[in-house]
Amino acid sequence: MTITHCPYCALQCAMRLERGPEGRPAVRPAPFPTNRGGLCRKGWTAAEVLTVPDRLTRPLLRKDRDSDPVETDWDTALDHVAERLMALRAVAGPDSVAVFGGGGLTNEKAYTLGKFARLALATSQIDYNGRFCMSSAAAAGNRAFGLDRGMPFPLTDVAEADVVLLAGANPAETMPPMMGHLSSPALIVIDPRRSATAEAALDRGGLHLAPRPGTDTALALGLLHAARVQGRCDEEYLAERTTGFDAAWEHAAAWWPERTERVTGVPAADIRAAADLLGRAARDHAAYILTGRGTEQHSKGTDTVSAWINLALALGLPGRRGSGYGCITGQGNGQGGREHGQKADQLPGYRHIEDPEARDHVARVWGVEPDSLPGPGRSAFELLDALGTPDGPRALLLFGSNPVVSAPDSARVRARLDSLDLLVVADFVLSETAAMADVVLPVAQWAEERGTMTNLEGRILRRERATAPPDGVRTDLEVLSSLAARLGQPADRFPTDPDTVLAELGRASAGGAADYSGVTPERLADGQALYWPVRSPEESTPRLFLDSFAHPDGRARLVPVDHRPPAEETDPDHPLVATTGRLMGHYQSGAQSRRVAELDAAEPEAYVEVHPATAARVGLADGDTARVVSRRGHTLARVRLTPTARLDTVFLPFHFAGEQSANNLTHPALDPTSRMPEFKVSAVRLEPAPPD
Ligand code: SF4
Repeated sequence: MTITHCPYCALQCAMRLERGPEGRPAVRPAPFPTNRGGLCRKGWTAAEVLTVPDRLTRPLLRKDRDSDPVETDWDTALDHVAERLMALRAVAGPDSVAVFGGGGLTNEKAYTLGKFARLALATSQIDYNGRFCMSSAAAAGNRAFGLDRGMPFPLTDVAEADVVLLAGANPAETMPPMMGHLSSPALIVIDPRRSATAEAALDRGGLHLAPRPGTDTALALGLLHAARVQGRCDEEYLAERTTGFDAAWEHAAAWWPERTERVTGVPAADIRAAADLLGRAARDHAAYILTGRGTEQHSKGTDTVSAWINLALALGLPGRRGSGYGCITGQGNGQGGREHGQKADQLPGYRHIEDPEARDHVARVWGVEPDSLPGPGRSAFELLDALGTPDGPRALLLFGSNPVVSAPDSARVRARLDSLDLLVVADFVLSETAAMADVVLPVAQWAEERGTMTNLEGRILRRERATAPPDGVRTDLEVLSSLAARLGQPADRFPTDPDTVLAELGRASAGGAADYSGVTPERLADGQALYWPVRSPEESTPRLFLDSFAHPDGRARLVPVDHRPPAEETDPDHPLVATTGRLMGHYQSGAQSRRVAELDAAEPEAYVEVHPATAARVGLADGDTARVVSRRGHTLARVRLTPTARLDTVFLPFHFAGEQSANNLTHPALDPTSRMPEFKVSAVRLEPAPPD
């Protein structure tokens, strides 16, 4: 029996892995503060992922794009990759090779991937799928507080609040055990859909505000306006702990509730009621504002999160014990994945790659000259979109991601990947992206290797090895080490032991915002609650900002932001807005969860939630197959008539592939700060699918 953590989302529920019937691994819940002994459907069935029938156990190599991949041995595969990379670099320079990582990789892997790109490949072209996850909240958190830790407080604190406002988050579906912390506070749910969380809020006398997708900034501004008119702003807190209120108010002053209603569709009375409920809780006791992907995955996501943070600051919540603002990070290591160097502009410790002191420090740990480290590269979608272009990378090494399904505008991404000279994918199954690769490297998965993850609270956890990987499979750390050696790196520069990597990561992150230097395997094995920064063998920091924020003057900054329309508007050809989201039974691109029989049986295909009147206008009935068409492509989805849906909005889950992929529709317009794509607003039309 091994105590470990779930392979999926950022709640990182604790679980026991035991021998079940017929000796197969089985999951049981384990006590832990965030999940309080609970698991969702994905967690309960996670052991099945270890025994999926189509597990890859030998490298695959394709001679050319017209031939099928064939099994080969590791030396042949790695020699081939190294030779091709060196040949490309010799002709087109180091930036002709790109690396793409993932927010599910352990801290040790994320760290090693960044180091591998910058030392073994000397390329600036590295980014990861976390860009598509919480990057807008990270950017807004950094500019408001001078530091981004998704939740700067333990999740258990939230249970003590009177009111929690959830903007664009649906934990009842995506992280059900989290609802255990939300059973006492009244909930205000901001979501265009009547989600499971919105239902829970209404059942308990809370509120559900359903704005038209793409208008969340206006709604947050309207709530700030109403709160101020109601006298709920904390003037003393604003004066002592913040700067920038007056500039932020210049925009909010124009968003009186009736105007906000005209733009968002949320009744002015509901806006006033929500501001009153939240404002009274903030004044009398405790309240939280938490954001999720629904409000963040927009081409103005950073400004929208800033608008929510402005509201939180105006009410005096952040940095006050028992109240605050936080982001509900989605991917398993969405937090740690953005701290250790797989992001285009970052070095370990959440340091900026252009900061000379950061470069000096990290170069010293790595034993190289600071000048030899490349500068910042392209952000995730820009990187994918540059592949195979005259100035773009011609080879891509991809770890822990499936962008054919998870990136916006799938057809464009597929075409870019197709134009590469070399695509190398490390995965444990033949994902949709791996199926396009020239070389596929079969790697170990969660319970087959040890490593640390950092959950949505910034708490560092240890995933344990509970079972041996199948014969023929290697760990990502082993793959990177072998490749680095073939690329001429010193033999000991890329260790394969996760504890050795963690110790080096600690040295590289020391002095940075996300300082892990006091994290040791012994403390983790002890079950100590290690929230970063962990700057010494004694330290842990469960709550940030209680005394001061991380800007040099110690104050938080309200950022002046205003509503702006989404990247594309509806028109007579595309009269509806499509928005996307997650299901309880699936995770991300579905590469893992679609292979679990119980999860697949529960949600076997894509669907589109649509109001009965909207469906009737185009001749669709419940259960029909709809063709949902945007300006970029189409997807096929089963119609689910949903009387609570907005008349102007349809919803699709994004875990399905091929003709059922919601990302066939989505728009790659990017947020100017976070470079987050416009996942949540696409102009579409619905029509009956042609007969097979
Ligand atoms: Fe917990 Fe998330 Fe795993 Fe579900 S998917 S068991 S909520 S960590």
